[in-house]
Amino acid sequence: MTSDASVSTYSQPNFQLKMSKAKWENNEEVRIFREYLRIPSVHPNVDYTPCVEFLKRQAASLSLPVDVVYLRSEASPVVIIKWLGKQPELPSIILNSHMDVVPVFPDKWIHGPFSAHLDDEGRIYGRGSQDMKCVATQYLGAIRSLIADGYQPRRTVYLTFVPNEEAGHDGMVDLVKKDYFKKLNVGFSFDEGIASEDETFSLFYAERTVWQLKFKFGGTAGHGSMLLPNTAGEKFNYVVKKMMEFRASQVKLLEEHPNLDIGDVTTVNLTRIGGGVQNNVVPASLEAYFDIRIAITEDLHAFEKQIRKWSAEAGEGIDIIFEAKEDYAEPTKIDASNPYWMAFKQGIDELGLKTRVRVFPGGTDSRFLRHLGIPALGFSPINNTPVLLHDHNEYLGADTYLRGIAIYKKLIASVANVLAYTTLQS
Ligand code: ZN
Repeated sequence: MTSDASVSTYSQPNFQLKMSKAKWENNEEVRIFREYLRIPSVHPNVDYTPCVEFLKRQAASLSLPVDVVYLRSEASPVVIIKWLGKQPELPSIILNSHMDVVPVFPDKWIHGPFSAHLDDEGRIYGRGSQDMKCVATQYLGAIRSLIADGYQPRRTVYLTFVPNEEAGHDGMVDLVKKDYFKKLNVGFSFDEGIASEDETFSLFYAERTVWQLKFKFGGTAGHGSMLLPNTAGEKFNYVVKKMMEFRASQVKLLEEHPNLDIGDVTTVNLTRIGGGVQNNVVPASLEAYFDIRIAITEDLHAFEKQIRKWSAEAGEGIDIIFEAKEDYAEPTKIDASNPYWMAFKQGIDELGLKTRVRVFPGGTDSRFLRHLGIPALGFSPINNTPVLLHDHNEYLGADTYLRGIAIYKKLIASVANVLAYTTLQS
């Protein structure tokens, strides 16, 4: 079916073949992946120029047109490669990835974090080898193989390479507000997932809602030798205790239901505290900061009401300041009402892959699309691999990498070929 033998070998779900180091080194797809890994697009103050140049070369090698759109400044480019569909009037498919990677502590790495070192076992070391430069070049490899087969998708496919996902601003969050994005007429998006340590592949259809809030407790100030009424410390204690009790209820939920994972519950963490002037002075104010990731099953209004009730019970003079307060993003439908999902699932089933459908524990760019009502799935074709995103010695096996290209080849072709939405619904 494919003209690229090095990829087709890995499309068999039960493959056992292992290549030698020399074969991995000489494999064109592995070479491209390692080249991308060697670009140190690392926070803070990322210089994206080498990424843009690399991706332009990739587009040229595929004979596909490429655009560069700038967000807040020239320092934050988005690269968009277009693969025209046979019916470009249909909503398009986005294959999204972020170009940036999180900081490294080089002395903790056994191989340089930007060396793309390939060891004898086929492990390719590098920051971004899991999160998520692998996915970016796997998309490209899949398209290269599909084009070699003479395949053209029904829908137009856009590869979007965005900056600053790891910084949380000046990236996809801004791109979706641009007219340029509206013109892409996006119907569905692929984005990153997380590696899985067993044979299953994790598939993410939703994310929790992120709130970060600060309680500012005002109270009677005075001498540390007194027992003054209405102090900031008492209010602080009351509210923190309530928040921690709620936290404990979520820990218990996880303990009692082994089928749940962290994305299924609400996490509450006290992340900073502040206030006070000196040891013998009762302060006029104290502060407590919480990072909260709210489960998709939780009613946001009821949850906020509960927090405000605890605050009111603690006394007067408490301000609640939301430093981040996301709206609920509707999870992507994973049933027959979503034709993109059905096509994705069909591809997964035909490959014989075992999947686990989950809620993403952190945040990804998918949420900005879901906020617009665009279905998005988070998926990285990495199984039987330690979860090393943001960790030291992040690596990906070359065989796993190459099989991921074959997996994407199937999934992209399947989803990009979905019939018109209206046709399926009628
Ligand atoms: Zn990522």
